[in-house]
This record gives sequence, structure tokens and C-alpha cells, in this order.
Amino acid sequence: MNAGHDAREHQGSLKPPVYETSTYVFESAEEGKRFFQAAYGLDGAEAIDDAGYIYTRLDNPNARVAEARLSVWENSEDALVFNSGMAAISTVLLSYLRPGRSVLYSTPLYGGTATLLRAFLPGWGVDAVAFSPESTESDIRAMTQGKDVAIVYLETPANPTNDIFDIEMGARLAGSLGARLVVDNTLLSPVWQKPIDHGADVVVHSATKYLGGHSDLTAGAVCGSSEDIEELRHQRYRLGATPSPQTAWLLGRSLETLRLRVEKQTSNAVELATFLSNHPKVASVNHLSLLDPADPRYQVYARQCLGPGAMISFEVGGGEDGAFGFLDAMRLIHLTVSLGGTESLASHPWTNSHSTWSPVEKLAIGVTPGLIRFSVGVESVGDLIADLDQALASI
Ligand code: PLP
Repeated sequence: MNAGHDAREHQGSLKPPVYETSTYVFESAEEGKRFFQAAYGLDGAEAIDDAGYIYTRLDNPNARVAEARLSVWENSEDALVFNSGMAAISTVLLSYLRPGRSVLYSTPLYGGTATLLRAFLPGWGVDAVAFSPESTESDIRAMTQGKDVAIVYLETPANPTNDIFDIEMGARLAGSLGARLVVDNTLLSPVWQKPIDHGADVVVHSATKYLGGHSDLTAGAVCGSSEDIEELRHQRYRLGATPSPQTAWLLGRSLETLRLRVEKQTSNAVELATFLSNHPKVASVNHLSLLDPADPRYQVYARQCLGPGAMISFEVGGGEDGAFGFLDAMRLIHLTVSLGGTESLASHPWTNSHSTWSPVEKLAIGVTPGLIRFSVGVESVGDLIADLDQALASI
């Protein structure tokens, strides 16, 4: 909770002050020279042990507080915060990919990441190769024949279907291909999954979700080795992806209550997943708490996850009409995209987050017209059951 902040360095302020400034004053021109040497790793940088802040886009004290807290959560040597999840993901991908190199990625995955991989990166000569939850390790190896793979990218559990991928398998693949394993840990948060403990090199997050946790900020995060984070820090300056001090401050503050929020959201979600799976108007429910121990995916879940998380997706009868009927009838649950906030939120992946995918592609990854994505909040579980019940009755 307290990582990254020492009250004695801030006039005794219990909480970190917000450093609302765009630039920092040097005591002398010599000091400015030293700070730049340190920030850009120029000649002599190794000998500098008192580097200070220069300019808020390069780095700021509020970002450092959030980063110190994230490293504790993810068991990483260091961390970096960004102004959105997509800024974090694109900075990582652009840093390690080059024209002619390949990225091997799991599907389903968040629509924005898919667009980056499938539409943007191929325009820069990067080859993006998808595999599915059914692909075995040897299927995936076969796909890499003749390719120079720089990144193996897993989003696990996947948005919006909660498909899971074996992080240790990803680490074996990446290790043998000389690639880095990048894992998007947004859906479970480090409360329930610590990918670095299972062999990931780099963890990425939409910190807009559980890490921020109140639907009031947009941010991203990357955790990894000191060496990778140092390199990515330079890329963050270049790409201009640093969060504002106010956003970084809110994120650092939110990390103090991460466990409390996520535990409550998850215990609500476990009850709601059971309620939904017993409801006659619900055709199927995707939540990790419902995995059957006889299902091979359960072994992966038991090995790499500490809890099932609070993101559910479920299918109602009647296709898009059924889904719209349900969504329009909700009274307590908010009809909105995003997830991970204290309030319960529901959306329609077919026409929202995955609207740019073709119907064939959506059906192939389990996104159907009747699928609802439901991010469970911290409200009273009885109130949530009552709202689900009345909204389902209206279909
Ligand atoms: N990764 C996942 C799993 C997401 O769900 C999202 C957003 O929904 C992102 C990344 C992108 O994050 P942001 O919206 O903060 O840019």
C-alpha cells in the first residue's frame, strides 16, 4: 500500500502530493546536463546516482509511486505506467517488432489489441499469426515454421469469453523461439494472476480496469525486468505515452484498495455466475468459477490463477433482440463498455468492442449476437440478482 512514497520527503504529507507541473527547474546548467545524461543513457550516465525530474512527459513523481506499487503486485523488478492500456500495448509491440519479424498471438482478445495486430502492424511489415484456445503446443510450433518470431502475446483470460491460455506453455514457446512472452493480465489483475511467476517476460494492463477500479481514469501499465523497463521507458518518452500526474496519482491511490475491491467483486461474481447458469433464459455462462475439474482447462486454471475474477459473459436466447431487450431492461447495472469498476457494467460485444470483426470471425471466437459481457461491481449481491432477474424476465 505504501510503496513508492515516504512522507518524510514530502513535508510529512501522509499521501503523495500531485505534482501538477509540466517541467522541472534545474539548479544549474551542469545539473540539467547530468539529468539528461541519466534520462537518455548518454555517456557517463552510469556514474550518476542523483538524477532528477526534467519534464512531465519523460517521467513524473506520481508515475513513480504507481510503478513502485505495481512492481510489488506483479512480482516484477520494475514497472512503467502509460496514458492508456493501448499506449502500453502499442509501445511494447513497437519496441520489439521490426519489419519482417512475427508476433504470435492468442484469440479471442480485446478488439483494440486485435485491430493493432491485424490492421496496423501488417502495414509496417510485421507478420501477425493467430492461434486459438484449441491449438495445441505442437500446432502452434508448426505455425512458426520459417518465421522470425519476436513476441508471443497472450491475453488470458481473454476478453470477452474468459478462454484461458497456459502461460508456462507460452514461456516454453517464446524461450525456444528466442522471443519475448507478453501477457495481458487485465482481466484477473495481479490479485488473481501473476504471469511473471509463470515465465512471462512482460506483463501489460489496461489500468483503466481493475487497477484504476473506479471507472474514472484511463491508464496502462507494463511490468518486467529492470532491463526491459529501462528500454521501454525510453520508448515511452519517444512515443509520448506517459500519464498525467493527476492520472498517475489516482492510479497509485486506487492500488491501495485493489485487493478489497477485487475480492468483493469476485465473491459477487461467483454467486452471480451460479445464478445465471441456473436461469432458464440463459443459454451459457463463461466464468472461471464454473470450470469443471475434469475439463483440461481446469488444470491450467488451477496452476496459474489464484481466483476466478469478476468478469462474466453469458448468452441469452433470442440473439441480438434478446440481448438488447435484457440490456435495455437493466436498472442497477449500467449499460456501458469497459470493465473492472466498482459499479456493475454490461455491454454487447457483438455490436460494441468486437463490432469491427466480421460475423464469421466473431462466431469463430465465441462472440455471438446474444452474448452479454458483464463486469461485476461491489454492490450488494442481492440487488444485483434482483436486477438480473427482472431484466431476464423482460426478454
Ligand atoms: N486489454 C484488455 C484486455 C482490455 O479489455 C482493454 C480495454 O478494454 C485494453 C487492453 C485496452 O485498454 P485501454 O482502453 O485502457 O486503452
